[in-house]
Amino acid sequence: MITMNVRRTTAAAAAALALSLTTVVGGSGAAQAIGAGSGSGSGAETITIGIKFDQPGVGLKTPDGTYTGFDVDVATYVAKELGFAPGDIKWKEAKSADRETLLQRGDVDFIAASYSINDEREKKVDFAGPYLLAHQDILVRADDDSIKEPEDLNNKKLCSVTGSTSAQNVKDELAPRAQLQEYGGYSECLTGLENEIIDAVTTDDSILAGYAAQDEFKGKFKLGGFKLSNENYGIGVQQGSELKAEINTALEKMVADGSWEAYVEKNFGPANYENEPAPKIGNVVE
Ligand code: GLU
Repeated sequence: MITMNVRRTTAAAAAALALSLTTVVGGSGAAQAIGAGSGSGSGAETITIGIKFDQPGVGLKTPDGTYTGFDVDVATYVAKELGFAPGDIKWKEAKSADRETLLQRGDVDFIAASYSINDEREKKVDFAGPYLLAHQDILVRADDDSIKEPEDLNNKKLCSVTGSTSAQNVKDELAPRAQLQEYGGYSECLTGLENEIIDAVTTDDSILAGYAAQDEFKGKFKLGGFKLSNENYGIGVQQGSELKAEINTALEKMVADGSWEAYVEKNFGPANYENEPAPKIGNVVE
């Protein structure tokens, strides 16, 4: 958790941190977490950030224990602006279904994990951003021409992830008659697609492009190219947290100084992902 940080340079920033700490401490379980951290005697000043661990190009923990992806780069930039060097970051896996709970319990300070802003989630958490606009799409085996339009998904075995907007959209409107399998992570869906247990994986095009570009999957899968929804990625924080304003300032700077473009190129370039331009802070596309 965030603890008092010597790297903060300006009084304003220090005041902002004090405010955010007050808010967090005023919360619930977070107070204990901070108390436990600072009382441990380690002297560590760390920030805990939730990301995905299994989404290449977006958020990935590699076998050698490093973290890569667009969300990782964005989160690292934001942490730096909050006064935390890369070595001060503790990465924590934030699976789709766990994100609100992780924030509410104070297990993480913020979440950057392909986390779409929507009304349902905003009842429980707050979002800074958005910092990326993605769209729901499908991934099928390269030799499968049976899904030409979204309606063709009905009666297909479709895989998505529990707690994701992708699964909810399928149930609500996209293909209510599809046989939806909900797994814990998209990587499990990919294995199912490869093994022909399922017919299509559906989630954000940003995530699917990253999987399709993996060496192990090259030539095996293709994207449908359907823009089935607008997914505005936000950075999740505890409800009422002062961090939201600070993170928005960091995100604006990240776009203005060219870092956003560089992160897009670095992480999505290899997958040939055609990204949308940088969104404006507060501009959630319905
Ligand atoms: N962006 C969508 C969501 O927040 C799908 C990706 C994910 O599950 O993280 O649910």
